[in-house]
Amino acid sequence: MTVTQDRPMTYSKMRGLVSFFSALLKGKKVGLSDLLHKLVSSQQLCQHLDTQKILRRQSKLRKEKDEKSSVSSVNTETSQMKPSDFDYLKVIGRGSFGKVLLARHRKQGGYYAVKVLQKHMIVKRKEQRHVMVERSVLLKGLQHPFLVGLHFSFQTPNTLYFVLDYVNGGELFYHLQRDGSFPEPRSAFYAAEMAMALGYLHSLDIVYRDLKPENILLDSGGHVMLTDFGLCKEGVAIGGIMHTFCGTPEYLAPEVLQGHTYSPAVDWWGLGAVLFEMLYGLPPFYNCIKAEMFKNILHAPLQLRGGVSQAARSLLEGLLERDVSKRLGGSWDFVELQEHSFFASINWDDLLARKVKPPFIPKVTGPCDISHIDPEFTLQPVPASVNERCQAGGVSEAFPGFSFMNPTEYMAAQLVS
Ligand code: ATP
Ligand code: MG
Repeated sequence: MTVTQDRPMTYSKMRGLVSFFSALLKGKKVGLSDLLHKLVSSQQLCQHLDTQKILRRQSKLRKEKDEKSSVSSVNTETSQMKPSDFDYLKVIGRGSFGKVLLARHRKQGGYYAVKVLQKHMIVKRKEQRHVMVERSVLLKGLQHPFLVGLHFSFQTPNTLYFVLDYVNGGELFYHLQRDGSFPEPRSAFYAAEMAMALGYLHSLDIVYRDLKPENILLDSGGHVMLTDFGLCKEGVAIGGIMHTFCGTPEYLAPEVLQGHTYSPAVDWWGLGAVLFEMLYGLPPFYNCIKAEMFKNILHAPLQLRGGVSQAARSLLEGLLERDVSKRLGGSWDFVELQEHSFFASINWDDLLARKVKPPFIPKVTGPCDISHIDPEFTLQPVPASVNERCQAGGVSEAFPGFSFMNPTEYMAAQLVS
């Protein structure tokens, strides 16, 4: 007999369900999310119900709620923000369309990372959609301990500004380059925090797609912070597909390279590539000739040199699996990783609560410390153009509705003015 997910609900199944729900609800006051959690973890119910469908509905409801709240955020008359509200102190990074600067809010005094994007470059490369995706992803009010948060966004006639949390422990890449490779417990800690952030994004139908060491920052406490949502793809449910191609060669999943349809599992390949680099010091399938590296990613056997544990090898093999249907995380996403022996020592609840002591604490003296930022950036002069002498506004047709103020900031601004 073929069992399909859409089989009709029989009367007895329905009765079983009703009594299960009433017992649950009577026994304890449970919220919808508790209930859903129980649903997912209940073997018995999984047999009766297509839990995925419920979760999808939950995710849809949440999306509708988020859309409503983001509309109200935009309505908090955000165009008031302008470049001259900030003092620009240092260049701290370079993006594809402009620079990232350390800035201080003139009135309120907080330090931020301001990502400045040149509109003409974005329009020339027809990347408006990515930029708007970045904004809308950040705007979704993503709140996760391992994701960089957006405070404001605003625009002038030539430039877009994202005002983000300033994360000053340095890029993971910066530390990795200095150390060569990381010991297993340190790699497991970073991989676990990244996996949690990716699992959270996937639960919101967002695929990160651009996992690479430059986009992984450490905060001053030594925790992971993922930045750069420019390449995120929204609206992709687990099992869904994407056709557009973007990414950085070293960390690209084979299905992306081949232009095939791809799914959130690309992020688990990316995590495998970053974990490999943390353990061995170079990305997997690396070759200094790009074409060779592409070939290797598609066809070469995964070489796992000695010196790493059996658990680490098994995780790398699971994540760097070319067949997506067999890839770890390909079916049940983050849950599959959580159960892997490489993470046996991780207490996931404590990790999420940031209670696990990071294996390395960057030495930073304060919120504006730039000692962990590559001098390649910090020695550059701050471009005068970031402080365009123009008042708020200059809304361009290519980026309508870009400006935003985080509701908390809005309240604070009202109090100050
Ligand atoms: P690319 O597409 O080339 O990765 P990008 O245009 O998407 O670049 P980001 O990756 O967002 O730009 O930022 C570029 C660099 O700036 C990062 O690699 C990081 O070093 C630094 N950076 C970005 N956001 C922050 C932040 N919130 N705090 C501190 N540094 C940051
Ligand atoms: Mg980046």
